[in-house]
Amino acid sequence: MLPVRGRDGRATGFVRHLLGSRTAWTPQGDGEFFCPGCGGDRNYQRLTGRTRLTVLGVPVLARGTTGPVVECASCLHRFGVETLDHPTTRRLSVLLRDAVHAVAVSVLAAGGSGSRAALEAAAETVRAAGCEEDAAERLAMTLDGGDPRPALTALAPHLAAPGRESLLLDAALIALADGPYTPAEHTALTVAGEALLLPAEVVERVLTAARMPS
Ligand SMILES: [Zn+2]
Repeated sequence: MLPVRGRDGRATGFVRHLLGSRTAWTPQGDGEFFCPGCGGDRNYQRLTGRTRLTVLGVPVLARGTTGPVVECASCLHRFGVETLDHPTTRRLSVLLRDAVHAVAVSVLAAGGSGSRAALEAAAETVRAAGCEEDAAERLAMTLDGGDPRPALTALAPHLAAPGRESLLLDAALIALADGPYTPAEHTALTVAGEALLLPAEVVERVLTAARMPS
């Protein structure tokens, strides 16, 4: 396509100087994401680009579309749209709070009693995870349990293993607050560990460690 070529077959410097490409970006929406560039919750714009071949800086030929990409409003770096798969810090703390609440409720329900010690341990754990005071108080009324797995499954891919183990440990301590694990409590904790993507041997190690006096 290029008539002027050097001896090695590549376009000469002159031609490369003559020809260029320019991309015009069009906004396609915006939102909030966790920016891996500047490391925090930021606004982003989603952009698609149209690239044109230029001759002496003048666009002459459409060369197709590029992107979409995501541009951080703060640092202006651009990333692939897969960046949006990672939750914002704000969203992650909501996922964590919901997961802790769900697992606390399921362990209390498995315990089958409104034991004061277990309720207090559970209330303290969910408060530490950022639940409102009344959510902690309502734990006593939510002993019908429910399935904690959706909340745990939503969180698990975004939390490193030590964080997931620590969540399971907190749940184990709630179960132990009123005595040794009952079979139902042990089952509930195993289910929670699986939903947190922890291998069975790690779950057993955490449940054993919880029994040791700290
Ligand atoms: Zn940024």
